[in-house]
Amino acid sequence: MLATRHIARSVFRNVLRPVASRSITLESAPDVVFPEDALRPPLTILSEDETVIRDSTYKFAADTISPLVREMDDASQLKQSLIDNLFEQGLMGMEIPSEYDGTDTSFMSAIVAIESLARIDASVSVFVDVQNTLVNTLIISLGTDEQKEQWLPKLATDTVGCFNLTEAGSGSDAFAMRSTAIRDGDDYILNGDKLWITNSGHAGLFLVFANAEPELLKTNPKKAYKGITLFLVPGDAPGLTVGKKEDKLGIRASSTCPVNLTDVRVPASAILGEYGKGYKYAIECLNEGRIGIAAQMIGLAQGAMDITVPYTKERKQFGQSVFDFQAMQHQIADVHTQLEAARLLCYNAARLKMAGQPFVREAAMAKLYSSNVATLATSKCVEWMGGVGFVKDFPLEKFYRDCKIGTIYEGTSNIQLSTIAKLLPY
Ligand SMILES: Cc1cc2nc3c(=O)[nH]c(=O)nc-3n(C[C@H](O)[C@H](O)[C@H](O)COP(=O)(O)OP(=O)(O)OC[C@H]3O[C@@H](n4cnc5c(N)ncnc54)[C@H](O)[C@@H]3O)c2cc1C
Repeated sequence: MLATRHIARSVFRNVLRPVASRSITLESAPDVVFPEDALRPPLTILSEDETVIRDSTYKFAADTISPLVREMDDASQLKQSLIDNLFEQGLMGMEIPSEYDGTDTSFMSAIVAIESLARIDASVSVFVDVQNTLVNTLIISLGTDEQKEQWLPKLATDTVGCFNLTEAGSGSDAFAMRSTAIRDGDDYILNGDKLWITNSGHAGLFLVFANAEPELLKTNPKKAYKGITLFLVPGDAPGLTVGKKEDKLGIRASSTCPVNLTDVRVPASAILGEYGKGYKYAIECLNEGRIGIAAQMIGLAQGAMDITVPYTKERKQFGQSVFDFQAMQHQIADVHTQLEAARLLCYNAARLKMAGQPFVREAAMAKLYSSNVATLATSKCVEWMGGVGFVKDFPLEKFYRDCKIGTIYEGTSNIQLSTIAKLLPY
């Protein structure tokens, strides 16, 4: 078994590992300037390595995840064997450097992998997305050498992480959080209740935002965000408990739970990044994370179209395939066009981020638009399939349920619009 795992891992890694060295990554060249006559690659043309990752991840999803989707949705539970497999495939530590046992790919490669997974199951996609674009990213960019050595090899190989920002009273207004971190000698004592925490049901590491200067909440609430600090809390820390899983409309297999912290003691060395900078890290990493959610939404919309359009070509009414009615063709062409536009926004935001260029507005536009397109595409696909689109024996109704979350998490659509409006070039 171990030998098989090793071979599976090394086969995938042999494909993925060389990515960092071979691909034309712009990450290390923020000031890149193309000569006037240089041929710029079109956004939809991926590098050879990105193509391999997109296609091999899709094949894995179609072969291995697809047969489990219905069962996991019904049970509201990801199968542990699948979680193990995602680690074995290197999908849980995509941007983690190889020295920490990670797959060492680029951000763009992680984005196309998230998209490919969502074509089959949006729950698995967000499971991988949160690990890569929120948890791993924060530790890679902010961790001390000791923190990286302690956590990155685990996150790449067997430990699920989760991102604990939201609370009952602080959703869109995340920095109104009430969770506290009180200094006690060399330690901090954490108390608070987090809500809606993706992957918490499986997590061995909790990234927790808490206010280390809670008196500011009373004396100067507008400045209270300056106390927000980010802590690395092991899943087995005494006083940390994960509550009952939410019973959700969509992405049902993804675990979303409340997390309670009662007198959880962590050493000061568990602070990730700088004291009091948690608000900044949350904003920055959610900006990046939104590109991941955009990828999840375009993958999901594509998955619905992959099933529906061939069906419309096979399904005959009035003596011809329903696809051959111009009324159907025009609608399908319209949704396909919007899906392509959403993909371009998503890939452009990812490329800007990799090039070290400003990408906040573009990430917000990508998430906003992709979730709108996913809502439209899945609704239309249900319609185009007729009655079979509406029943659980076929996968369409699940795509329709799963898409709704795209307009809510990592900033609702209104919040994306506010971000875009703030950054308009006028
Ligand atoms: C399935 C799921 C998974 C999640 N995973 C995580 C996770 O892993 N970690 C985590 O920390 N959080 C997570 N969340 C929380 C998620 O990010 C929040 O639900 C989201 O930010 C919205 O907050 P809220 O639910 O409190 O809505 P509210 O903030 O109460 O918003 C309600 C409505 O008011 C609107 N609104 C609010 N403020 C404004 C404004 N200023 N202008 C205009 N409209 C406004 C919103 O757009 C929305 O329509 C998850 C949520 C869900 C449902």
